[in-house]
Amino acid sequence: MPHELFELFTNTQSQEAENFRKRIRVYNSLFSFTSFGVKVDNNLASSKCGIYTFRVLGQVFHTLPPLNPHEGKPSHFQLYFWDNDNEMANRMSIFDNADIYEMRNNSPSVLLYSRRLFQQYAVDMYIKLEMTRLDYYRNNQAELRSEYYQRIVDSINCGQNRGSEIGKRIVLPASFIGGPRDMRRRYLDAMTLDRPDLTSRVFRAKVQDLKKEITLKAVFGEVCAYVYVVEFQKHGLPHIHMLVILKKEHKINNTDQFDDYVSAELPQKEKNPRLFDLVVKHMMHGPCGHLNSKNSCMIAGQCKSHYPRKFCERTVQGEDGFPIYRRRDDSQTVDVRIAKLNNQWVVPYNPYLLMRCDCHINVEIWSGLTAVKYLYKYIYKGHDKVDVHIASGNEV
Ligand SMILES: [Zn+2]
Repeated sequence: MPHELFELFTNTQSQEAENFRKRIRVYNSLFSFTSFGVKVDNNLASSKCGIYTFRVLGQVFHTLPPLNPHEGKPSHFQLYFWDNDNEMANRMSIFDNADIYEMRNNSPSVLLYSRRLFQQYAVDMYIKLEMTRLDYYRNNQAELRSEYYQRIVDSINCGQNRGSEIGKRIVLPASFIGGPRDMRRRYLDAMTLDRPDLTSRVFRAKVQDLKKEITLKAVFGEVCAYVYVVEFQKHGLPHIHMLVILKKEHKINNTDQFDDYVSAELPQKEKNPRLFDLVVKHMMHGPCGHLNSKNSCMIAGQCKSHYPRKFCERTVQGEDGFPIYRRRDDSQTVDVRIAKLNNQWVVPYNPYLLMRCDCHINVEIWSGLTAVKYLYKYIYKGHDKVDVHIASGNEV
């Protein structure tokens, strides 16, 4: 590599070299024979936020312009043919303040110095490799027995029974990294590490027991009706939302009674060490807010569950039908996930059910129309849905 060029690639003091490296993709595109036709993902390919990343979507094309420029200035390989006498002037005029450098083909390691251009080159080459692999799978569908496990079976499943309507679908085997079958295999492998089958069995046993406790043993009083819905979080953790309606004469209306069924405080450690441990293990929210602004409950700088809650000397009925539970400032703290938390962070629980089930059970007493309507809606809010926008070209 000529010394001047080496300097441009490596000198960290010179502003000229800095500019050269910053605009290296532009320089390259200016002098390359073809233009690199690709849809760049601008959401990621930003140097303003994080590390500069060159990411493209879809296929890559190398476009060859006509030999003569139709209108405007010549570009790309036209520069090498068009008006040879003015060639240099043409090149110089494309960027007013740009310094123009010619690269010669005798520098074996020039690519490794070229930073963003090297990244573009690597992406370009990777796409070519992947296209080759995709072509291979497209041309060897018979060996993958694709009709059997995809085309016909799928079409029949979605109600299609006319042969002419069955389209040709290319199946990517699990060996194609990043393909749907590869991702599914990885997902199943990961799930196996988690043993969701065991989790589900224990969960079901606990749900059955909980129902028995509430309906037959009537831990909250005699039950008139109950509804519940089972949900699974993304990584498989099951949980239920349950609404219990008590018989009229058993309704818990007086806030003084609330404390018999629901606590939102750390129990005294000496008096009941096991309950204390369980509250610390299962019923402490966060830390979020100023202790950890990145916790998953934080939305726009606020905890969506309103923690830490205010201290409160005695349980009172809130105006909206949601009770405010007793949280006395007893100066007791516990270490939870590298923070010291007090009664402001306790999620309301029933001591008996917590002791029995050894898992997170948030128990709350609701009354008033607003609260009940909210609750019915909440447990039947349906499945999680995702809003998807499909973008094509530059239009969204
Ligand atoms: Zn929170």
